[in-house]
Amino acid sequence: MDTESFVLPVLGVVEETADACSVQLGVTPEVEAHFTYRPGQFLTLAVPSEETGLAARCYSLSSSPVDGGPLTVTVKRTVDGYASNWICDNLKAGDSIRVLPPSGIFSPADLDHDLLLFAGGSGVTPIISIARTALARGKGKIVVFYANRDESSVIFANEWARLSAEHPDRLVVVHWLESVQGLPSQDQLKSFASHFASYDSFCCGPAPFMKSVSLALRELEFPRERRHQEKFVSLGGNPFGDVAELQKAEATLADADDHEDDDAPALAGPVRLEVELDGSTYEYDDWSGRETILEFLESKGLDAPFSCREGNCSACACMVLEGEVKMAHNEVLDEMDLADGIRLGCQSTPLTEKLRITYNG
Ligand SMILES: Cc1cc2nc3c(=O)[nH]c(=O)nc-3n(C[C@H](O)[C@H](O)[C@H](O)COP(=O)(O)OP(=O)(O)OC[C@H]3O[C@@H](n4cnc5c(N)ncnc54)[C@H](O)[C@@H]3O)c2cc1C
Repeated sequence: MDTESFVLPVLGVVEETADACSVQLGVTPEVEAHFTYRPGQFLTLAVPSEETGLAARCYSLSSSPVDGGPLTVTVKRTVDGYASNWICDNLKAGDSIRVLPPSGIFSPADLDHDLLLFAGGSGVTPIISIARTALARGKGKIVVFYANRDESSVIFANEWARLSAEHPDRLVVVHWLESVQGLPSQDQLKSFASHFASYDSFCCGPAPFMKSVSLALRELEFPRERRHQEKFVSLGGNPFGDVAELQKAEATLADADDHEDDDAPALAGPVRLEVELDGSTYEYDDWSGRETILEFLESKGLDAPFSCREGNCSACACMVLEGEVKMAHNEVLDEMDLADGIRLGCQSTPLTEKLRITYNG
C-alpha cells in the first residue's frame, strides 16, 4: 500500500441530507495508479487546522470503482466534531485536499457471493459502495438493513430506490427508522438475519448497533470469516508525516520497550512467520521480533495494509491463526474481536517463536 500522500482537486460537493455531504475528488492520469480501490475501502483526508496543522480523518468511499463515477467520500457531521464540520462547511468545487490512497480490508473477497449488508447512519458509505459494485460485477443476492434516526437522515434514499428498482431480483433494501420502530434490538436483528444465514455479512454503523448485529450473527453461528465490521473512529495522530522518520522513531521505541517489558518472555532466537496476504503465502525465519508485524513485512517489501500506525484504525487488522502476539496499543478491537484472534499489525510484536497470520478474509 502507498505511504505517499496526494493533493486532489475537489470536483464538487453534494448535500446528501441536512448533516451529510459527498465530496467528489478528481484523479489525474498521473496519479490514477495510486487510486484504484476495492469497494468498502477508505481514504484518509488531511483536514487543515490552525491549531494542529492538520487533523487526519478516514472517510469511506461511497463511490464504486466500476461505474466510472468520480472518487467520492461521504461525510456526516459529528456533533462538536472538528473535521466533519470543517469538510461540510468549507470544501467546495475548485478547492483541493491532501489525501492518502485507498486503504482497508472491509471488502468482499467474492462479489458473486450473496451479501447481507447492515448500515447505521453514516455507516452506509462503504455499504453502498459494496452494493453498487456487487450489483455491477457480481451475481449474488444483496440484502441491505439500513437503520436511521428518522426519514430525513437517510443518506442515498433516492439511490437505494433506484438500485432496488433496477435490480428487483437481486437487491432488497429494508429501511429501519428509529422514529417509527425504535432502536433495532438484538432479537429483531437476529430474526431478520436468520433468513440469510448463508450470506457474507458486512456491518458498519454506531458502536451499539454494530455490537447488536455482531451478537445476533454470533447467535446464528455465522462463522468469523463471514462476519465483517468497519468501525468509524477518529485518528489521534498524523499519518501524513515523514513515514521513514516515523518508522525510525518507532523502531527506537520498540527497542526501549523490549528492555522494559517484564511481562513478555524473551524470545531466544529469530521468529518464524507465515503470512497469507493478497492470496499468496509468504514464509520467513529471520524476524528478530523487535519490529511490529507491519514493520517486518514492509522490510520484506510486502504491501501489508495500514493507515494510522497508531492502533486507532483497523486498516492493518490481521488474524492470528497460530502463536501469540502482544499489542502496544489498541483503540479499535473489542473483546469479541480479540477472542476471534484479530490483532493490529502495526502494534503487534511476537510472544511465540512461531506465528501464522492471515490478512485474507
Ligand atoms: C475506516 C474509517 C472510515 C470512516 N468512514 C467515515 C465515513 O464514510 N463517513 C463519516 O462521516 N465518518 C467516517 N469515519 C469517521 C471519521 O473519520 C471521523 O471520526 C468523524 O468524521 C468524526 O471526526 P470529527 O473530527 O468531526 O469529530 P471528532 O474526532 O470528535 O472531533 C473532535 C476532535 O477534534 C479535535 N479538534 C477540535 N478542534 C480542532 C482543531 N481546530 N484542529 C484540530 N483538531 C481539533 C478535538 O481535540 C477532538 O479530539 C470513518 C472512520 C474510520 C476509522
